[in-house]
Amino acid sequence: MSNPTGWKPSVGASPSAAAGAAGAGEPPGLGGAAPGLAHEEPLLFEHGSRGRCGVSLPAPVGPAPAAEIPAALLRGPIDGLPELSELEVVRHFTRLSTWNHGIDTGLYPLGSCTMKYNPRSSEAFARLPGFAGLHPLAPATHVQGALELMYRLERALSEIAGMSATSLSPAAGAHGELTGLMVIRAWHQSRGNPRRKVLIPDTAHGTNPASAALNGYTCVELASGPDGRLHPETVAAAMDEDVAAIMVTNPNTLGIFESHIAEIAAIVHGRGGLVYGDGANMNALLGVARPGDLGFDVIQYNLHKTFATPHGGGGPGAGPVAVTGALAPFLPLPMVVEDGPGFRLVTDPAERPGSVGKIHGFWGNFGMFVRAWAYLRELGPEGLRATAELAVLNAAYVRAGLSGAYHLPYPTDSLHEVVFDDQAQKAAGITTMDVAKRLIDHGFHPPTIYFPLVVHGALMIEPTETESKEALDAFIGAMRAIADEARTDPDRLRAAPLRAFRSRLDETRAARRPVLRWTPGMQAG
Ligand SMILES: *Cc1c(COP(=O)(O)O)cnc(C)c1O
Repeated sequence: MSNPTGWKPSVGASPSAAAGAAGAGEPPGLGGAAPGLAHEEPLLFEHGSRGRCGVSLPAPVGPAPAAEIPAALLRGPIDGLPELSELEVVRHFTRLSTWNHGIDTGLYPLGSCTMKYNPRSSEAFARLPGFAGLHPLAPATHVQGALELMYRLERALSEIAGMSATSLSPAAGAHGELTGLMVIRAWHQSRGNPRRKVLIPDTAHGTNPASAALNGYTCVELASGPDGRLHPETVAAAMDEDVAAIMVTNPNTLGIFESHIAEIAAIVHGRGGLVYGDGANMNALLGVARPGDLGFDVIQYNLHKTFATPHGGGGPGAGPVAVTGALAPFLPLPMVVEDGPGFRLVTDPAERPGSVGKIHGFWGNFGMFVRAWAYLRELGPEGLRATAELAVLNAAYVRAGLSGAYHLPYPTDSLHEVVFDDQAQKAAGITTMDVAKRLIDHGFHPPTIYFPLVVHGALMIEPTETESKEALDAFIGAMRAIADEARTDPDRLRAAPLRAFRSRLDETRAARRPVLRWTPGMQAG
């Protein structure tokens, strides 16, 4: 191979060569990166050459260990595995990492996902050796500090939700939903009938019906009103003695506060049902309103959205579930309880016969608990409240900054996020997808698009509380420039992104006829 590192300059080699030629009139690319440094990155299988190796250790002395291992446990040689030097591997992955956009790179206004910046301090605490190096099977006497942290976090999350007890076990929001519904089912079951249906508004996140279905419930979709809110009459009409629960996100996925929630909860409770709160939007309520006071019986938190856990990239999350006193006996195990001057884990079902059991290995994703606790302590009650107020203020600022340029399907006060659509660009033949792609040229991650489903061509923006006014102004400026371009140069907009490493994909063809590369010599399976 004449080029041992394997990389190829992109110019002339890919559609993104357009990036180099985009030239005059283009917004500056992210970080002003020179397109000349963009490069194709082959697969690891296409790198390296036979016999190349990442380490150069001396041959072991003494008998080969393989001699003592039963032959059945040894794998034979595999033809076609990549053989690379350490530097090749490091460069390959480092180059790939530069193709990524993260919150550390720039604004990430992905609505519903709360891609806020998480302080490095929480990260530092989670990495303290006393926490990071804990063994999950260590006896309680050796890990009193960790148990105390879990206990205090559990108490704090219960207090913030206005609930009685919280299970820290679930690993994500959706897992929390599933756990909450298991608790609801167990409670109904304890009263003789688990019931069969769960009511879910049409603005709900897709995980809500999925969690209900996975838990054996039939979902009944409720239409939201023309104001984007759920109305008591709609709930009353669907409510009967076979409904186990209603699942409500508040504020809902349009960012709108469900102002009829108390009345809705009374209707559901009146027919023996329970009210499940999807707490993924707690960012809007922290320290301002408590779900327990609004009539909710169960809510899940998304620590990775609200409490400083890195979000995205496939890392672990945490979706603690808070419940009222009536439901507390059904929470999963383990639970941490005070025990004399110390703390202990309740793990024996005999001690909590109502418990739905274990839903996660060991104690849950403990590192997330450390981050959340550090964040809670760093902000304190006033800081948490300020978080919610700033999240709402920032979204209101974006709503005001973009009104006139984009159509607002629900022209009402929304809280921590705001949903626009592409109605105003329709005449020019410009869609939400074009706007999103063009934002990439301006160095911003696009917002959530085409969700929630009740808004055709939705552009769902959640700036979060961590962005400065300057960052919001820059984003608003880019969005307004795109709205102008939709009128003045729609063809250019439709060709976007022009400065990204990859230009627009033919998504239909990519889905129908994917090109799966195959290197000769690779073995199947
Ligand atoms: C993110 C989100 C969820 C799902 O949370 P995961 O942690 O991704 O499973 C559920 N509901 C709403 C409203 C959300 O925004």
